[in-house]
Amino acid sequence: MNSYNIEKKDMNILLDRFLEDYKVFGPTRPGADSTFDEITSIKQLHLDYTSTVLPPKKFFHPPKETLFSFELKNDKFTTKESIQDKKILILGIHPCDVHAILKLDKFFSTDFSDTYYQNRRKNTVLVAINCVEPSEHSFCSSMGTGPYLDEGYDILLTDIGTKYLVEIGSKTGQKLVEGVNLRKATETDFHEKERRLKLMEKKIKKFMNTTWLPRIARENLDHEVWLDLGEHGGVDGSFPCLSCGSCSLVCPTCYCYDVYDTMDLSLISGTRNRELDSCQLLEYGEVALGDNFRRDRKDRIRHWMLCKFGAAAGGKNSSCVGCGRCIRVCPSKIDLTEVAKVIRGGKQR
Ligand code: SF4
Ligand code: SF4
Repeated sequence: MNSYNIEKKDMNILLDRFLEDYKVFGPTRPGADSTFDEITSIKQLHLDYTSTVLPPKKFFHPPKETLFSFELKNDKFTTKESIQDKKILILGIHPCDVHAILKLDKFFSTDFSDTYYQNRRKNTVLVAINCVEPSEHSFCSSMGTGPYLDEGYDILLTDIGTKYLVEIGSKTGQKLVEGVNLRKATETDFHEKERRLKLMEKKIKKFMNTTWLPRIARENLDHEVWLDLGEHGGVDGSFPCLSCGSCSLVCPTCYCYDVYDTMDLSLISGTRNRELDSCQLLEYGEVALGDNFRRDRKDRIRHWMLCKFGAAAGGKNSSCVGCGRCIRVCPSKIDLTEVAKVIRGGKQR
């Protein structure tokens, strides 16, 4: 695949090219925090952000959506699906978030193909950017999801000083830069990229030892840490889990959802909807007749962490990319890297 460079001051030319074909979303900074918003001018774009509050998951698996509407006519139900087919381009997505999307791709296509997700994914172009500064909570290097990215993008940008290195990852990416007067990347550009990513890796302060972690987690289902987290608090100064579900909502890989219908008063038409759910919430484990598989908070937080440690679903895949968002938002200061350390006897590296 081809590689180019572009002066930072000329980025508006590249953005204008993207805007010709796509609705563009990128990191903006409306207040203290960064967020992915629609971009129509280069002035709105803040590519040097560390992390956004909500991950780009919202573009593929939105917090709330209508799946289809239905109507009873002549004793027959007719349905109309709400397929969204607008073409969008996400500009400035970080390596860990690209990896999270690859995990969602797998989930929404392995045992069943989710048309709604697939359709949005098919219509989206990913223009990734390597991080220059890690967030204080991220541990992507432990999860193998950063700071290096070698898959999942259409175009990859790297800040190399006064320029960006522009690496093409797909035919769509190549088509997008054709007609834009980019210069061919040089060996010096790649050396500078390497130097900056190595520097970036050294700046990462948080780690999680994942060696045998799924197995260690499964062997420690009765560890006192779960009771501490659920009832007492006390893991490296944290408080008990409040079951607020914030960690799930901000997690780029949490995919669980609830499906429910709403009916018109006439009872002849309505909509089927879905919204994000969280295994941290009490209602998640509720079954018919009011029983609940995970009534205790310790069971819910254990379940969530086992999933993140790769110990759920046969232990094959960790559903964590080390973005650190859950640590940042947790009102009880619960940090899954500290919990991992406790269950493996206090050692992190
Ligand atoms: S954000 Fe913290 S307090 Fe809230 S459910 Fe998650 S671990 Fe518990
Ligand atoms: S579990 Fe936490 S650190 Fe891991 S991907 Fe989810 S939000 Fe990021």
